[in-house]
Amino acid sequence: TLTEREEARLQARTPASKRMHARAVRSMTSGVPSSYQVRDPWPIYLTHGRGARVWDVDGTEYSDFHNGYGSMVQGHAHPAIVRAVGERIALGSHFAMPTEDSIVVSEELARRFGLPRWRYVNSGSEATMDAIRIARGITGRDTIIKIFGSYHGHHDYVMVSIGTPYADIGPADHMNSLGYGAGIPQAVVDLTVPVPFNDAPAMLRRVEALVAEDRAPACVIMEAAMMNLGVVLPEPGYLAAVREITARHGIILIFDEVKTGLCVAAGGATERFGVRPDMVTLAKALGGGLPSGAIGATAEIMEIVATDRVKQVGTYNGNPLTMAAARASLLEVLTGDAYAHLERLGDRLTAGCDEILARHGLPGYTVSVGSKGCVNFTDALIRDYTSFMEHQLAELPALAWLYNANRGVLMAPGREEEWTLSVQHTDADVDRYLDSLDQLAHDLVR
Ligand code: PLP
Repeated sequence: TLTEREEARLQARTPASKRMHARAVRSMTSGVPSSYQVRDPWPIYLTHGRGARVWDVDGTEYSDFHNGYGSMVQGHAHPAIVRAVGERIALGSHFAMPTEDSIVVSEELARRFGLPRWRYVNSGSEATMDAIRIARGITGRDTIIKIFGSYHGHHDYVMVSIGTPYADIGPADHMNSLGYGAGIPQAVVDLTVPVPFNDAPAMLRRVEALVAEDRAPACVIMEAAMMNLGVVLPEPGYLAAVREITARHGIILIFDEVKTGLCVAAGGATERFGVRPDMVTLAKALGGGLPSGAIGATAEIMEIVATDRVKQVGTYNGNPLTMAAARASLLEVLTGDAYAHLERLGDRLTAGCDEILARHGLPGYTVSVGSKGCVNFTDALIRDYTSFMEHQLAELPALAWLYNANRGVLMAPGREEEWTLSVQHTDADVDRYLDSLDQLAHDLVR
């Protein structure tokens, strides 16, 4: 089969990764730092990156559309970030006391997201965990609502109703709360109630049912555009309806912008889709490659942190290296020109993918927003987790990943993942992606 041929080709191209993996498994579980880096029979180990390109231990160069799960919208080793971090590290890398850069970053995030008060953490998981705690602290409510199939990090509150088999999803009005993997207490799972994306009436009915059961939710945590099912855009009116439902019931609306923030517009999905949440969580691209996370909110909400009724703490919060990288990212790299460049390349990539699918008569369509996008290998509309599970075939995205890897295009593995363009990508990188898809489409319809 094509898959076997491409897998054999990739293995033949990566002998040094194979050797490194044999060594790695002896000291590192599965040979990787995080289970999301597992790939059978071995992952590709990298040495370095520059601009839009990365190199593996066999010396092979790739155009990077993985970009660290979208953390590197700045591109690799951007001179402004290298300089900022280099200057900072020579002045001391950690104090657990505030530096001026954290003020500059807060001022800039407040301007971009329209939320005046910020706090810092070191990952997206910590950002969503603290945001949910703040929402619970303010409302005095324990139950929370999330979108079925949405990923918000690896802590217990949100490792619920993701990666669930189709048969276990449950009806739209009463979707199942299911823990993702062992070790998550059922009592915690039961506090997280999933609702379908793009279905405001179902959210309203679930909210009203919870209120009637004396389980009114503290918050709705959601991505304004889902980024962990490829890319699923909000349908017209959906986000405004969610805003209205949450406001009416005193529910805090959290937009998790760990993936969308700084990637789909200067002010993230909040700016792009024009609906203002009560809180925003950021991570990934904020740190320009350093571990980062941030929580933004209204002054009224952050008052509960200011008065120390909710504890929002952490040794590495506002780490000077991260703040220096974030400052350089926001002020020097992710400029208006940079977003215009991302938009132009994204439009070209999207149109190019659609043209290839149409020319070869292959079912499918492209969805994109800003630097993010994906090809759905189906003509069916993917608008939520249920339709994703029903229609997005697993084999084709896996084959597309192999085709890309063998043709110098690196993507995040897994059919849930989307591409991320960086400000250092050029038309040559887009051409590589399109050439790879063109060969795949050609071979598939032959
Ligand atoms: N929220 C969203 C939307 C994410 O995509 C992710 C990670 O992929 C997270 C939160 C968790 O971020 P981290 O992996 O930095 O903990």
